[in-house]
Amino acid sequence: MRIVFIGPPGSGKGTQCRRLSKHLGVPHLSTGEMLRWKRDNTHDGPMVAGFIDGGNLAPDQFVMSMVSCRISESDCRSGYLLDGFPRTVVQAELFDTHLDQRNGQLDHVFQLVASDDELIRRMIRRSELEGRVDDTPETIANRLSVYQARTRPVIDYYADRGLIRPIDAMQSAETVFANLLAMIETNE
Ligand code: ATP
Repeated sequence: MRIVFIGPPGSGKGTQCRRLSKHLGVPHLSTGEMLRWKRDNTHDGPMVAGFIDGGNLAPDQFVMSMVSCRISESDCRSGYLLDGFPRTVVQAELFDTHLDQRNGQLDHVFQLVASDDELIRRMIRRSELEGRVDDTPETIANRLSVYQARTRPVIDYYADRGLIRPIDAMQSAETVFANLLAMIETNE
């Protein structure tokens, strides 16, 4: 089961992936979390911080090699949930090449849909609770515009391949999760 989650910052990708990972027993891979770990624990830290702390994207090749290393590990053999990757058309193309070389394919690409007002409200609240350095008003605005410019085209990329499944992410996390499960189970 290989599933990709695409959605603007604050749309709940992480929340849904954590629940689904438990339910399906496949690992949850968040490129945002991987990058924050690299920022805080590796020599690449300052380079990574230069991109992510201001809400800009890390370089495509760098992210692709990080993801291909992780999905080659044994716990990913029966599948994985990708949260926040691919985030650019170049990443989607690199990922397709990676999958083709291994005769793999994606089962679902979910698009979480929510209004900017709701996203901003959620991220401001999260910064109060978790203190993420990129949840400040200026950085949130930048992340939303980076999403429109760089990530929205990824939705068209997968829509052209008949893979996109939009989900209303304005509902409660429980309702979104129930809808996700129904879509996976009926393979609709
Ligand atoms: P959520 O609200 O679901 O946590 P998010 O977009 O706010 O989503 P993350 O997905 O954790 O947060 O990403 C945090 C930051 O990490 C992004 O703003 C970006 O700088 C960087 N990042 C994450 N994934 C990628 C990627 N695939 N390519 C490039 N940069 C990435």
